[in-house]
Amino acid sequence: MNSVDISAIDQDILDSFANLIKIRRHIHSHPEVGPVQPNTVEYIKEQFDGMDNVSIIEGKPTAGVVVDISCKNSGPTIAFRADMDALDISETISETHIPNQKNFRSKHDNKMHACGHDLHTAILIGFGEIIHQHRSSLKGKIRLLFQPGEEGYGGGNQMVKAGYLDDVINVFALHCWPDLSVGQIGFRGGPFFASIDYFTVNVSGIGGHGAAPEKASDQLLAMSRIINDLQSIISRRISGLDHAVLSVCYASAGSYDAPAVIPANAQFGGSVRAFSNAIQNTIETEFRNICTHSAYSVHPECEVDIEYKRVYPQTVNNKRLIRKVEEVFSRFIKKDNLFTDYKPTLGGEDFSFMAEKVPGVLFLLGGTLPENLSDKTAFLHNPSFDVDESSMLFGVQAFKNLAIELLS
Ligand SMILES: [Zn+2]
Repeated sequence: MNSVDISAIDQDILDSFANLIKIRRHIHSHPEVGPVQPNTVEYIKEQFDGMDNVSIIEGKPTAGVVVDISCKNSGPTIAFRADMDALDISETISETHIPNQKNFRSKHDNKMHACGHDLHTAILIGFGEIIHQHRSSLKGKIRLLFQPGEEGYGGGNQMVKAGYLDDVINVFALHCWPDLSVGQIGFRGGPFFASIDYFTVNVSGIGGHGAAPEKASDQLLAMSRIINDLQSIISRRISGLDHAVLSVCYASAGSYDAPAVIPANAQFGGSVRAFSNAIQNTIETEFRNICTHSAYSVHPECEVDIEYKRVYPQTVNNKRLIRKVEEVFSRFIKKDNLFTDYKPTLGGEDFSFMAEKVPGVLFLLGGTLPENLSDKTAFLHNPSFDVDESSMLFGVQAFKNLAIELLS
């Protein structure tokens, strides 16, 4: 074992560590990207195959797979969620990268578990196996939600739509976090992860000769003006006390081969992040106004076609439930390592749909060895991203303690 203090981890979890590692490495080396993860689902089902008082529910592939563990006595159902999908990223070939050193790198050149969902899935399987051994002293049901398509496909919403949260009283999830060291946990009540909106804007009008701009409506100039003016939304229309981001991330117009042609079309797109519905609404309204008026200010013939899509809502941790989580975690995480007012993130999470449906909490699980934690630690979605496997012990312990607390 490494430099991490594991004295607070239960013996049954320590005994399962080799199995957790085996599961994690299998999933890491077999990443699946997109709205469905069929092979990962089959692998998960194998892990629970033949266990007593366990039922496996599988509907549409886009809604993943659910494993229900029934306890001896009747009682409420609480759910724990893990996302299963990987990313279109080629894993680094660096020799210092642990999956390369220990021979479990991705078997697919352009796919990688670069967001830790391999660990999330392994933790949930490991937790299921551990809590199953405690079922005779608990009441109610433990529901394991293995969710596909977190990376932009809304698998969390699909699980809600499938009814998997209907009879659940609380839902929990974790995300491994490279900015925290192993043994640390971070969360906050209220909005924790931002909403995600995507936009695409097409500006169309009259193209023409670069030598005669008065005969055209110059869509490229209109696009430039819109992009500039959009930056006034966050700085001038949103209170400095609120947080939001608007980024234009791509733009295209004209042709390198036609330097004297004013293009008839220009297109750009990007993303908006916010922490409340009210701010999200303000941004969208201002966005539409600016696109229309800024284009018109260049030329009345410039037309804008706006596609503005709400992708994920804010992830809001239930404030009452978070007090219970804090109490439970403080029994195995020292005060210095438990960050109860951890900074929110402008990244998005489709756990948001589940936490909209029932009171829920998402917490961040420290993933980096203390001696390796620095500004250079690879963050999520990086080809060098890696999480120390000992973090899984703390993830399983956290879920176990929550289940025992709520179902005893
Ligand atoms: Zn993730």
